[in-house]
Amino acid sequence: MTSDFETQLRAVSLRVTRPRLAVLTALRDHPHVDTDTVIALVRTEHPTVSHQAVYDVLRALTDAGLVRRIQPAGATARYESRVADNHHHVVCRSCGAIADVDCAVGHSPCLTASDDHGFVVDEAEVVYWGTCPDCATERTPQRFASSEGSK
Ligand SMILES: [Zn+2]
Ligand SMILES: [Zn+2]
Repeated sequence: MTSDFETQLRAVSLRVTRPRLAVLTALRDHPHVDTDTVIALVRTEHPTVSHQAVYDVLRALTDAGLVRRIQPAGATARYESRVADNHHHVVCRSCGAIADVDCAVGHSPCLTASDDHGFVVDEAEVVYWGTCPDCATERTPQRFASSEGSK
């Protein structure tokens, strides 16, 4: 596994460092996590890595295209290491859970603008909003409880 990450880093001319490998490993195991979670995950293995180091690594990996930064409206930025396949996301309105949805078309920009205003469009960002299974099941018993008068 580690050697895959080393190959990826070298392919984009980034030096192979312990914090970079740690961040890539964290994102592989925990996709769509925010910066604080990445820091916590990295620190369980490497307690001496600073916050700033993780910020720097996330920026370098995002700039190099090894990590994708996503930021659904109203949410904090999340990071994932699944890149370059133009996949989309489904987001829970209630708890903010995020899951991957394969691109409907299979290539970017996925949706062809009805009028591109002369822009060269290379991406269409699709976010599916809804309620995740956990939140949906949590909500159902509550609704029954409130409409029920007797014990
Ligand atoms: Zn939810
Ligand atoms: Zn994703």
